[in-house]
Amino acid sequence: MIKYALACNQGHSFESWFQNSAAYDKQIKRKLVTCPVCGSPKVEKALMTPQVSGAKKRGKAIAAAGPAAAEAPVAVPPAPPASVAMISPQEREFRTKLKELREHLTKNADYVGQKFPDEARKMHYGEIEHRSIYGEASPQDAKDLHEEGIEFHPLPVLPDEHN
Ligand SMILES: [Zn+2]
Repeated sequence: MIKYALACNQGHSFESWFQNSAAYDKQIKRKLVTCPVCGSPKVEKALMTPQVSGAKKRGKAIAAAGPAAAEAPVAVPPAPPASVAMISPQEREFRTKLKELREHLTKNADYVGQKFPDEARKMHYGEIEHRSIYGEASPQDAKDLHEEGIEFHPLPVLPDEHN
């Protein structure tokens, strides 16, 4: 989306959004863009938008450089609804991958529940054989294990789970 600062032949200035500069050209040619003040279809791009900082200075420079320089459109970030529509499919894919990873982990490891810190410690110190386990650890347990140099990883939690 591009926002253009426009002005009609009566000198009214206003702003309008266009898909791109080609869409602007098409709509101007078909006289679909009219002045909201007087309704005149004789509309063209104004030299500057009021929001651009330092626009006064730049406007003068553009005017001095001739009409061709004034053609440069002012680009603005796309509106939020558009970006949400683009992110959704990727997010779905990401969630599917997370779910697969979680299912793989839980299928190939023993659930030891609250005993996770004990079991992890025993394995680390060679008291029992190494195997894949998963379970629960409080933040304090996790901190202790980490300080003892025991390697473990948090299970990926899906965004809609509350555990
Ligand atoms: Zn007008």
